[in-house]
Amino acid sequence: MTYPALSMIIDGERVAGGGRRTHSVRNPATGETLAELPLADAADLDRALEVAQRGFRIWRVSTPHQRAAVLQGAARLMLERQEDLARVATLEQGKPIAEARIEVLMNVGLFNFYAGEVFRLYGRVLVRPAGQRSTVTKEPVGPVAAFAPWNFPLGNPGRKLGAPIAAGCSVILKAAEETPASALGVLQCLLDAGLPNEVAQAVFGVPDEVSRHLLGSPIIRKLSFTGSTVVGKHLAKLAADDCKRTTMELGGHGPVLVFGDVDIDAVLDTAVAHKYRNAGQVCVSPTRFIVHDSIYDRFREGFASRARAIVVGDGLATGTGMGPMANPRRPDAIERLIGDARDRGATLHTGGERIGNRGFFYTPSVLSDVPTDAAIMNEEPFGPVALINPFADEAAMIAEANRLPYGLAAYAWTNDARRQRRLAAEIESGMIGINTTMIGGADSPFGGVKWSGHGSEDGPEGVDACLVTKAVHEG
Ligand code: NAD
Repeated sequence: MTYPALSMIIDGERVAGGGRRTHSVRNPATGETLAELPLADAADLDRALEVAQRGFRIWRVSTPHQRAAVLQGAARLMLERQEDLARVATLEQGKPIAEARIEVLMNVGLFNFYAGEVFRLYGRVLVRPAGQRSTVTKEPVGPVAAFAPWNFPLGNPGRKLGAPIAAGCSVILKAAEETPASALGVLQCLLDAGLPNEVAQAVFGVPDEVSRHLLGSPIIRKLSFTGSTVVGKHLAKLAADDCKRTTMELGGHGPVLVFGDVDIDAVLDTAVAHKYRNAGQVCVSPTRFIVHDSIYDRFREGFASRARAIVVGDGLATGTGMGPMANPRRPDAIERLIGDARDRGATLHTGGERIGNRGFFYTPSVLSDVPTDAAIMNEEPFGPVALINPFADEAAMIAEANRLPYGLAAYAWTNDARRQRRLAAEIESGMIGINTTMIGGADSPFGGVKWSGHGSEDGPEGVDACLVTKAVHEG
């Protein structure tokens, strides 16, 4: 399987060429160009909007059976195409192919879950005097503009497409220009499963141009965005100008509280693997390890020795534990953040350097005793670096967990049941894993609080986010 030719998909048609500007898609393991991606001009975006308006008229009156058949059919096709989809994702994003295969399975699970959920978009009948009738119904919100980033090239588009389609909306997807073929592969599964061409489309472009154009149109009734907090705030303001509904899945700075009563090796085996998954380019990545004094030295040393043992290489090569970073901006950012932390007195235990001069590789890194004023303690690093600091008691650990304006994912390890409940209640976060890193699932809401955004994807909440409520009162 070679890397495919790239296009947009507008009204079911593969759109490319025609003198459009292009973006070079690169393999992060080599830095080489894989293909040229056509970028939308204003006429392309206007056409996609007009088609999305028609698509909404078609799909809002589709039956649950039609929606379920499309979602289940697409899930089946994704499984059949798993190897090709995963290979393309690794080629353009860099992650080990085993991780890309899991993304396909996540989409399959989500689409099958939504296929059941479409039969449960219930309303209510209110109690009223005889002769009167009041009902509350749920209706699809309208055409959705969805923006998906590059870190989960298959999973993010799956989320952005699945929920609107289950709810009866049409959707225009702008996936990241860095990972377009994966997004197109997911959309193609839906179209091949019988989704009408007008219902879901894919455009690419200069991000700010596309978002201003789509969000500036009254046709779009909802914005769904995954990406950084700074871009999210900008898009939320654009959406507010037209009172559009929003789901914002933004940055995080995952705190991990580790208490003295745990099996340190078992925690490290799980936590280290979770830290370096996708080279740390994960919004729910564990970042600040807030460790009790009593186990601090052993935890830090065990973390560094496991990080040193990770095999870094091409995601397609057998035995690779961590691939390159997805684009040249990431190693630059990590280098800057680690340099700043060391200048301020942090200790580097391992990593802290680029690997080779091809591709965008960076070593798994561990910093300890990182001062609170270091940039990396405040900015989402989005890379393969763990920050480990000691704390004397539970109150100080909770205070550190809640110090930042982010609140996406948090983790804690302790065997004390009362403490587990206190942590669950007191940590400000959309998702909390206690003695586990498994904080998601097709049936579970995924989303954050504070600067990590609002609204949820996945679970019944993911579909509900694409529905509006209508109350009808009959006298
Ligand atoms: P970025 O903030 O410029 O872009 C993040 C994503 O938003 C990309 O997919 C990009 O195409 C998109 N984007 C940027 N400007 C946009 C606009 N005006 N309209 C629509 N989409 C726009 O930076 P980046 O270098 O790609 O990533 C850097 C940071 O983004 C990371 O450090 C991380 O904090 C965050 N990020 C978060 C997630 C996540 O899953 N929440 C995913 C990717 C990146």
